[in-house]
Amino acid sequence: MPATAIVGTQWGDEGKGRMVDLLAAEADAVVRFQGGANAGHTIINDLGKFVFHLLPSGMLSPHTLNVIGTGVVVDPERLVNELTGLQDSVSETGKLIISDRAHVVLPFHRQIEEALDQSPKTLNYGSTKRGIAQAYQFKAAKVGLQVGELLADEATLRDRLAPAVEFANIFFRGLDAPETNVDDTIEYLKPFTAKLQPYIGNPLPALRELIAADKQVLVEGQLGTLRDLDWGIYPYTTSSNPVAGFASVGAGIPPMEITKVLGIVKAYSSCVGEGPFVTELFGDLADKIREVGKEYGAATGRPRRIGWFDAVATRHGALIQGATSLCVTLLDVLSCVDTIGVCTGYEIDGEATGEFPVYNGLVKAQPVLKELPGWSVPITEVRKLGDLPKQARDYIEFIEESVGVPVSHISVGPERDQIIYV
Ligand code: GDP
Ligand code: MG
Repeated sequence: MPATAIVGTQWGDEGKGRMVDLLAAEADAVVRFQGGANAGHTIINDLGKFVFHLLPSGMLSPHTLNVIGTGVVVDPERLVNELTGLQDSVSETGKLIISDRAHVVLPFHRQIEEALDQSPKTLNYGSTKRGIAQAYQFKAAKVGLQVGELLADEATLRDRLAPAVEFANIFFRGLDAPETNVDDTIEYLKPFTAKLQPYIGNPLPALRELIAADKQVLVEGQLGTLRDLDWGIYPYTTSSNPVAGFASVGAGIPPMEITKVLGIVKAYSSCVGEGPFVTELFGDLADKIREVGKEYGAATGRPRRIGWFDAVATRHGALIQGATSLCVTLLDVLSCVDTIGVCTGYEIDGEATGEFPVYNGLVKAQPVLKELPGWSVPITEVRKLGDLPKQARDYIEFIEESVGVPVSHISVGPERDQIIYV
């Protein structure tokens, strides 16, 4: 069986972790292909409730190989905490390989981000301040450190860290912040390297073997298309590419092996952080959906901004992902409203468009809204499409038609079994 990508079509937090956990029960490998510890994937199953930041969402399935892919930036301290926490709470985890080519988030990456954040002249793009953007920036500037290099002898590591430290100090000097040095960085890294060492390696042989043997491999993205560095709402994006096309790079799996793309679609919109959000709702209605949907950031606890379903944004998101089918999540949350708003198009300077524009168009975009009847009854116990109220089935049909991709799964609650196979 070739690889399946599980990816977000909107702003992230669509429920990818929940779907990866469900599908990982049958999968042989789960590869996380980009992003860092700024992700928050909530998983609720028989073992309890877990929030994964860096660990792939298959870590709760003991027979599953989990790979932190080359496209990820790894904060060693956060990963050790996450891994130790998981090992303390479950008797057996999935197997883990951390790609030796993934990049390390170094302590000064966070410090640069904090110092930049305090400067009144820099853009506040609503970051989690975990040094993710800086880790990718250092990577692109060729002054980053790959995870496998943590295992080098001290003299080599010292040589490799020196240009990174110098690059960091250029920022600190410019920002009037305390400078960093190689010695402190090495001392800081030591205990985390010791803990992570058994997991660091080259994941390619194991992945190639699984693919050649027709086993099931899942590739998991963080966030969603609208946060993609190239295809999202730049500059209110993340610093990597959550699109399935990048999974090939970030996981090391050839593009033709990724034959299925499951696009996760939230039944309404939610967004964490700054930037234009065309269908945003405010006041009591937003509060109600936020409370019922428990829309608080899994990584930061920040209340998520809420909006109606946006067909322009989601279509863009699903098509860029190349979604072969959709999973609509949190449909149960819409039981709390009588009438459901949907955005079917944008008007920019008096002109109608169905294409998702760049920032300067997006800030002027007015949503063309339509009202659809709600169903106003709980649906969390429904397991068959035919048992959904007619209005809910019509709503699913509206999503399929406006996005242009068929729906294969409908999620009606956070638990593993709260799923309808279409
Ligand atoms: P991710 O970042 O895409 O993995 O999504 P998050 O885990 O950050 O956010 C999704 C939230 O919705 C989590 O708290 C899930 O437990 C929850 N969730 C997922 N699917 C459903 C669903 O169908 N209904 C409800 N009510 N909650 C869901
Ligand atoms: Mg999340």
